[in-house]
Amino acid sequence: MTKSSGTTHSPGVNGNGDSRPEGRDAGIAPSICSEMRASASRSPQSGGEALGRPALRVEPATGLLAGVRQVLSPHFDARPKDVAPELIVVHGISLPAGEFGGPWIDRLFAGNLPPDAHPSFRETATLRVSAHAVIRRDGAVTQYVPFALRAWHAGHSQYRGRSGCNDFSVGIELEGTDEIPYTEGQYESLAGLVSALLATYPTLSAERITGHSDIAPGRKSDPGPAFEWPRFRQLLAERRQTKRLA
Ligand SMILES: [Zn+2]
Repeated sequence: MTKSSGTTHSPGVNGNGDSRPEGRDAGIAPSICSEMRASASRSPQSGGEALGRPALRVEPATGLLAGVRQVLSPHFDARPKDVAPELIVVHGISLPAGEFGGPWIDRLFAGNLPPDAHPSFRETATLRVSAHAVIRRDGAVTQYVPFALRAWHAGHSQYRGRSGCNDFSVGIELEGTDEIPYTEGQYESLAGLVSALLATYPTLSAERITGHSDIAPGRKSDPGPAFEWPRFRQLLAERRQTKRLA
C-alpha cells in the first residue's frame, strides 16, 4: 500500500486513520503496503521464478501453497460466514520504504517488527497487518495467511460498491515501490500464483483482479504506475492457456 499522498505509503501512516494499530476491525485493518519495503535477505526457495521453478499449487484443504515458504501471521481471522474469495488485490510494499530484501516484511506480518530497527518502524510496528502472500524481488513467494482465511491487507476499501475488501479478497504484495519497475521474476510468480488461485477457487475470476489503489483511491497508491497491468494480464493468459493444455 501506499500512502495517499504520493508514492509509496508511508508506513504506519496511511493517510486516513489507517495508522492505528488495527486490531479491532480486522476487516478494515490498515494496510501497510507501499509503505514498507524490505531489504535484503532471504531468498526463499519458493515461489516463482520463471524458469525452473515448479508450478505453484494451492492445497484446497489448507489454503496453503505447496512447497512454498510459509511465515504464518497472527494477523488474520475468518472470512464472514458464507463469504468466499472473489477478488484478487495486488499491492506493493517495501520496508523501510524503498529498500528491498530485508527481513522486515516477514517481521511486520509476524507481528514482531522491532520498532527501533529503523526510524520509520516506530509507527509501522504498531500495525496489525498481513497479506496472503508476498512476492520478493527475485520472484520468491512467501505465504503468511491461508487463502481461505481473511488477511488484513486492504484497509478501508471498496470494490464495485462493496466495502470491506478484506472480507472477500486475496491480497498479494509485490516487494517494490510505485515507481521502480517490478522484476520479471515477480511478474512470472504473480502470474503463476494467480493462475493457481483461479484453478483452486472457482469464486475468483481473472476479471476481478485489481490494485490496492483502485479499491482505496486517494488513500493508497500501490502497486503504482510501475506495475504493468497489460504485461501481467498477458502472462496470466499464457499461464492459464498452458495449464489448460497440460
Ligand atoms: Zn497496498
